[in-house]
Amino acid sequence: MKDQLSSNLTSIKGRISDACARSGRRDEDVKLIAVTKSASMEAIRHLVELGVEELAENQVQQMTKRAGMLQESLSRFSTRTGENSAKPRWHMIGHLQRNKVQAVLPWAALIHSLDSLRLAEEIDAQAAKQGVVAPVLLQVNISKEMQKFGIAVAAALPLLEQIASLPNLEIQGMMGMAPFTNDEDVIRRTFSRGKELFDEIRSEKIGGPAFRELSMGMSNDFEFAVEFGATMVRVGSALFEGVEPNGETSPITDATAMAPE
Ligand SMILES: *Cc1c(COP(=O)(O)O)cnc(C)c1O
Repeated sequence: MKDQLSSNLTSIKGRISDACARSGRRDEDVKLIAVTKSASMEAIRHLVELGVEELAENQVQQMTKRAGMLQESLSRFSTRTGENSAKPRWHMIGHLQRNKVQAVLPWAALIHSLDSLRLAEEIDAQAAKQGVVAPVLLQVNISKEMQKFGIAVAAALPLLEQIASLPNLEIQGMMGMAPFTNDEDVIRRTFSRGKELFDEIRSEKIGGPAFRELSMGMSNDFEFAVEFGATMVRVGSALFEGVEPNGETSPITDATAMAPE
């Protein structure tokens, strides 16, 4: 399993690197985030051993459970060997319900899915209670198709202005998704729209100096995203291709992840 993961990882890093070269960017400006929602715990541990420290889940319960399990096994390892263990960072990339904010905050290094004023206010309030400043990305619906989540492009600037004053939130950038399609023109247009909005927000300085991350690109389209300036790509299925899927828990279906509040 580890060999397969290692070869997948090498191939994906190479493709990111090639896309950087094509677009005059540096490899270190693009972060690979491993989306582990359909991977087993064993595969996640191997991945961390291979040096991957940015991990993502789209469901709060699964994320907190796995983050806890991983931390436990890493600290057992460092107690046994005396070596410093890896310090994985977990990204919350799925729709976040307000009643889950409290649970996710202690584990999430970055929440990619801020998509409403009400959610922003809840994160701000819970972060204040926990004595932290919560790093978040604004999720924007950059595809023209109906997507369930993400705020409309035209609503992004007004929303940012409203949440800029919340003291316990740090808006570190934005997240967007292309539609599920093999039509490269559609994918390019979507990412181009995302990059344009990102640049506009930065030039208007609404997000402040912390606004610097553009989270775009998945297994199907991450090379395009890199060419259009993504600083984070979220890759799942391509990374775990040929690896035993998660056998411990039933797969989280979209229906569960997107349950209404
Ligand atoms: C599942 C998921 C990904 C990864 O998708 P793959 O196609 O498996 O690479 C990225 N972003 C979000 C928000 C996801 O839910």
